[in-house]
Amino acid sequence: MTTLTLSQSKPVERPEIKEKYDHFIGGKWVAPTSGEYFDNISPIDGKVFSKAARGNKQDIELALDAAHAAFPTWSKTSAAQRSKLLNKIADIIEENLEMLARIETIDNGKALRETRAADLPLVIDHFRYFAGVIRADESSISEHDEHTVSIALHEPLGVVGQIIPWNFPLLMATWKMAPALAAGCCAIVKPAEQTPTSIMVLMELIGHVLPPGVLNVVTGFGPEAGKPLASSPRIAKVSFTGETTTGRLIMQYASENLIPVTMELGGKSPNIFMKSVADADDEFFDKAVEGAVMFALNQGEICTCPSRILVHEDIYDVFMERVIARTKAIKMGHPLAEDTMMGAQASNDQYEKILSYIDIGKQEGAEVLCGGDKAELNSGLETGFYIQPTIFKGHNKMRVFQEEIFGPVVSVTTFKTTEEAIAIANDTMYGLGAGLWSRDAHELYQVPRAIQAGRVWVNCYHNYPAHAPFGGYKKSGFGRENHLMMLGHYRQTKNMLISYDKNKLGFF
Ligand code: NAD
Repeated sequence: MTTLTLSQSKPVERPEIKEKYDHFIGGKWVAPTSGEYFDNISPIDGKVFSKAARGNKQDIELALDAAHAAFPTWSKTSAAQRSKLLNKIADIIEENLEMLARIETIDNGKALRETRAADLPLVIDHFRYFAGVIRADESSISEHDEHTVSIALHEPLGVVGQIIPWNFPLLMATWKMAPALAAGCCAIVKPAEQTPTSIMVLMELIGHVLPPGVLNVVTGFGPEAGKPLASSPRIAKVSFTGETTTGRLIMQYASENLIPVTMELGGKSPNIFMKSVADADDEFFDKAVEGAVMFALNQGEICTCPSRILVHEDIYDVFMERVIARTKAIKMGHPLAEDTMMGAQASNDQYEKILSYIDIGKQEGAEVLCGGDKAELNSGLETGFYIQPTIFKGHNKMRVFQEEIFGPVVSVTTFKTTEEAIAIANDTMYGLGAGLWSRDAHELYQVPRAIQAGRVWVNCYHNYPAHAPFGGYKKSGFGRENHLMMLGHYRQTKNMLISYDKNKLGFF
């Protein structure tokens, strides 16, 4: 992942977290209409650390009212004005990076070294990126003929719904909010019920920057708050990140209103290690070994988790020996501790799901090369959701090679030829990420071209710069996030043909 050095953040020992958070609607904190709140459990110790408003259709309607009231004015603001506000948001996040990183860790369970060095710097950079590109992206004017001018203008789509997963609560929200706001849309964001707190703390910090109603956040469960948002005839688009099965439902809701959707869904990404990896110098070999262990980053809860290792059979022994040793050296511990490399799974449900997949792998005959169980931690972490990084060896037809586990579990298989590696890589329903490690110039270009995935990392893995388009092939979704092209998902084009000709058209 990208690491940026940021120096302006205020030091924080213990971030202040409220007992409960309301919705953020129309620039104000609004209690849920039902009066109900739900527990937010920290995966660090399995204990409740805050409560979030339990949103429903009525709350979504209030947010829609606020967003529709704000849209006529917001949509007419200049790109320069919106850019200034997005930069201001980025500055505030930068000043509070340490606090937000800690809250994200408490909310999600991932190690502080990741939230501090990767998640939050990327959040800041995405706001700055869209603050910049919106100013550079001009509407176009061309001459149809010497009397007629064609003007193509971008207009914001309107009020949009954005539904967020729990694996990168702040970053996934930013991937959606920054381009929508830059484009001049008003947004209603529905965070995941497992991780609502860090986004509400962010709203405490940045809520005042934007005019009331431009950005609204309604917390709650998928069927209660997400469904009325995605099914509403009052939104112009829904952008969704989450499971492929949920994505299918969201598309059904959106189809009733004939509105566009973008879908960022699941994955089962192959990480391919060609024979030339072992011919290379030690430094590159070591980098490739680390590339294989990247399956454990973010506890494996990344849609692009390199969850299948495909390694050339001639280098299997020498390569996997090093990969296993490096995996065993991963330090697990309290996610807020500076030296912790891998923290807790985001929720008890996710923890149980991963353990059940470890059982499935064992039952279907996959060999456990390391890990293969929960991690027993002490000092107050006994009740948290910790799993050992696990490596299976098997074949690509096994369920642990085909189904998204979304945990620190990788399945390894071998190949003999480049064609076989490509065939195995493409043999899943997903097509989100992939990795290729090689020293051969031909392979470095031809293999990524042959892989059916929206992002192929070559001799690296898991960086997510704002200017690089990201998204899925096949059942991993459609539409893209990040990059200038993202603005196209939040705008429509108005074409004006203007005649300066004094003559009649000549038909009637
Ligand atoms: P999920 O589908 O369970 O939930 C995602 C969001 O959808 C949550 O906010 C949830 O409340 C909401 N939701 C659930 N049911 C709904 C319904 N019926 N109507 C409306 N909203 C509903 O996914 P998750 O478990 O939070 O996230 C993990 C999944 O996300 C994994 O499959 C992962 O691959 C995927 N993911 C994909 C990307 C990507 O960019 N492709 C990025 C991150 C995560």
